[in-house]
Amino acid sequence: MKLQSLRGFRDILPAEAARWRRIEEAARAVTDAFGYAEIHLPILEATELFKRSVGEATDIVEKEMFSFLDRDKTAMSLRPEGTASCVRAGIENGLLHNQQQRFWYAGPMFRHERPQAGRYRQFHQIGVEAFGMAGPACDIEVIALSAALWSALGLEGLTLELNSLGSPECRAGYRTELQAYLRKHFDALDPDAQARVESNPLRVLDSKHPETRAVVADAPSMNAALDDDSRAHFAAVCEGLDALGVRWVHNTNLVRGLDYYTHTVFEWTTDQLGAQGTVCAGGRFDGLVAQLGGGEVPAVGFALGIERLALLLGDAQDLGDHGPQVYVCWTGSECMTAAQRVGAALRSRRVRTVVNAGDGGFKAQFKRADRSGAQWAVIVGPDELAAGRVQIKSLRDRDAQQQTFPIDEAPEYLMQQLGIGGLSQ
Ligand code: ATP
Ligand code: MG
Repeated sequence: MKLQSLRGFRDILPAEAARWRRIEEAARAVTDAFGYAEIHLPILEATELFKRSVGEATDIVEKEMFSFLDRDKTAMSLRPEGTASCVRAGIENGLLHNQQQRFWYAGPMFRHERPQAGRYRQFHQIGVEAFGMAGPACDIEVIALSAALWSALGLEGLTLELNSLGSPECRAGYRTELQAYLRKHFDALDPDAQARVESNPLRVLDSKHPETRAVVADAPSMNAALDDDSRAHFAAVCEGLDALGVRWVHNTNLVRGLDYYTHTVFEWTTDQLGAQGTVCAGGRFDGLVAQLGGGEVPAVGFALGIERLALLLGDAQDLGDHGPQVYVCWTGSECMTAAQRVGAALRSRRVRTVVNAGDGGFKAQFKRADRSGAQWAVIVGPDELAAGRVQIKSLRDRDAQQQTFPIDEAPEYLMQQLGIGGLSQ
């Protein structure tokens, strides 16, 4: 049997990893700037957690989870999303009761979907969740944070789609109204939508199926069903975003696949990724903490898909240079330790350094040095070493003379050449 990665599970090779790093660094900088604290959550959780939070009548819980019984016959699932774990952790550690919290997390999520570009079975999200803040200011903050992230990444052309599902009461009233309408037009719906009419009718609203869309076009409007408080909350969010210059469009059919959303829901979309056009999605979920046993704690959050963002970033972006700057060549066993010491001295001065390992004479080593992308080579040979010296050679400037330096002075010289240290850092 030929060993291969599982369907929908990918290796993120260095070229793509550089793009991921860009995204992660931007996310760290922006979440720091907004005062969000990082939290690490388990990848495996009790299956019950997702049944009670994401909801039994969702695609995720019905057919997308990797669930199994472990050796002790405990029902567990690879997490399909992060919000449930974040709320569970907040309750379990007493972080939510009568408190305000701003958290963010990053990591792999797992859903048994049909793999295609931008849709995988293991994918990675960065998520942000704010707890204990009921007013529209927090919705605005969380959306502004996502917008700041696109700016930090130099991403333009994303569209913010915004909608309100209202309070749980008006959401429930609207659900009944919509259900009655869909029952009347049952035969005109596609089979997927038909299956949703009883279990999760709101989900029918964002069907991509043409026949179902035609039915949905004349469905009662969610907006008409909003009560005064819900309407005022949504208006304040819209005005707050306008005031900050964050542009949005009202998509009255926008619902989220997960059951726990109330009031504001939003998605950032692009037309550059085909059917996988949503790069970030979130909203308010005031009922979830109570639903998981933690009391009434309002909450807002979002999750973005790293793979989709990485696809959008493309190759044109400046990904920063994280490769080696110096490659140390040596030959003769008596030079190995000296070469490794030079490497250590360079690294302690923040010079990214590879010391040659493996067989091969200087010719092979220079080839490796060149391929490594380093700008400089340090050469430690037996004759120079006996005199306490090394040679330094530019790998990029062919005309530059190879120079010899006392071994202790080489690191300082290279730091200067590379512009590291002093006031420049
Ligand atoms: P979609 O409608 O594309 O299936 P979703 O509503 O299921 O998305 P969410 O649960 O809101 O997605 O997850 C937030 C984000 O995570 C999505 O907007 C997307 O960028 C990303 N994402 C979700 N599922 C996948 C997947 N299978 N592969 C890659 N990215 C994903
Ligand atoms: Mg999905």
